[in-house]
Amino acid sequence: DTIGANLDRAVAAWPEREALVDVPSGRRWTYAQFSADIEELASALLAAGIAKGDRVGIWAVNCPEWVLVQYATARVGAVMVNINPAYRTHEVEYVLKQAGISLLVASVSHKSSDYRAMVQEVRGRCPQLREVVFIGDPSWDALLGRATPDPRYEDLSCDDPINIQYTSGTTGFPKGATLSHHNILNNGYFVGELIAYTEQDRICVPVPFYHCFGMVMGNLAATSHGACVVIPAPSFDPAATLRAVQQERCTSLYGVPTMFIAELNLPDFATYDLSSLRTGIMAGSPCPVEVMKRVVAEMHMAEVSICYGMTETSPVSLQTRRDDDLEHRTATVGRVLPHLEVKVVDPATGVTAPRGTAGELCTRGYSVMLGYWDEPGKTAEAVDQGRWMHTGDLAVMREDGYVEIVGRIKDMIIRGGENIYPREIEEFLYAHPKIADVQVVGVAHERYGEEVLACVIPRDAADPLTLDELRTFCEGRLAHYKIPSRLQVLDSFPMTVSGKVRKVELRERFAGETY
Ligand code: ATP
Ligand code: MG
Repeated sequence: DTIGANLDRAVAAWPEREALVDVPSGRRWTYAQFSADIEELASALLAAGIAKGDRVGIWAVNCPEWVLVQYATARVGAVMVNINPAYRTHEVEYVLKQAGISLLVASVSHKSSDYRAMVQEVRGRCPQLREVVFIGDPSWDALLGRATPDPRYEDLSCDDPINIQYTSGTTGFPKGATLSHHNILNNGYFVGELIAYTEQDRICVPVPFYHCFGMVMGNLAATSHGACVVIPAPSFDPAATLRAVQQERCTSLYGVPTMFIAELNLPDFATYDLSSLRTGIMAGSPCPVEVMKRVVAEMHMAEVSICYGMTETSPVSLQTRRDDDLEHRTATVGRVLPHLEVKVVDPATGVTAPRGTAGELCTRGYSVMLGYWDEPGKTAEAVDQGRWMHTGDLAVMREDGYVEIVGRIKDMIIRGGENIYPREIEEFLYAHPKIADVQVVGVAHERYGEEVLACVIPRDAADPLTLDELRTFCEGRLAHYKIPSRLQVLDSFPMTVSGKVRKVELRERFAGETY
């Protein structure tokens, strides 16, 4: 199916059920209203000269219009380009040019970001950009005013490109993955299927729509099962998220682990009624065991799923199942999704590694992107001749088919010839009472090549942890070479908009420090 045809089916089956709720503005859409607004916008895009294959940029924080643009561009067959709301002029100019965007839909402003001013600044340098429309501004109404009652859509195929999504930029400059209806609609559908979504579900989505977690695992998983998307706030706000769950009686809540940590750490956490929750998704980075235990016990998310994926694979390829035990839900990222294949290979030889042995994780199947937009060289490095996507992640396949993520190949620390996986040390350090959050990275060392640095956010800034305390805590319990020899106490970590810690930035920041 195309995304439009799939939505038509949901509208026919559940016209009066809610599809979308925006908590900040109090606006709500039933499936019938949602579909009518999408038709109007799609028709307006056609009237504005947008044809199949043209690129339409969306540079906005979470709001209902973001979702309308997603489905309206899919209806027209235009390629929606998700632009990171944290971008500034230099970066947005790069994306506008690189993707050849002819129409841009943008937020007016949010917090310290004045999108309108930034667009003014770069517009003159982007000749291909014909039109800019701001959400909630007269230009949005003017665009809708051009809709005609009987739009003529071009014929679409499920394999047409309809979306360019940039990777999070955790390990370097973001890359634009080109995705088809088939790629992302199937992925959203199967992720929802494994969570057993029905038209009764209400999904709270505090993760950015700009990233696949929000737009595929949120929006497409919801509409392909008749469920409802609830927007708690334009950008992540832990208190607003829990308020939205309570007020809208959400059954499912999404987040990367750091978001769940922020929610659990709210001083008034215990006052929210979260009893409507049954499930949710945690993805994007590894989840500490302690956090998972609290999510299950204190947020009532007994069926919470761990998903593993990457933008380039639409995104999800591995997922835990509803009845998996705590061990599988914390130590593994689940098993392969229906109709996909995964394997673990020796990165040096490409030969499949025996079960239980670490190697590079590779994915194949319907979810693998069409390619990086306009970067055939990078595509060939990532997707091999056999159509296997090389993830850059180290993983272990267990006997029972469940996969453990050991870490990113790029984050692995090699100290005196020993391979050290930061995750193992982080997991261990979380149990220290003075540590609220921790990241472990490698920094250069003359003799050992690399040395282990722990970056710690203390629970109590007035009483931070010392290196001696840290080492005493580890001694006798971790192999000597894994024990951090360096410590930095911080009040926050550098993050991507999708909520991941940019280890690369921590590494760079402390590379030159002498201890
Ligand atoms: P870039 O490719 O630009 O450096 P990125 O890889 O973080 O950024 P995404 O596509 O958003 O961009 O994220 C995919 C990566 O996130 C995976 O390759 C993996 O390293 C990590 N990841 C995703 N899900 C999980 C998970 N459940 N557990 C551990 N790591 C995960
Ligand atoms: Mg990546």
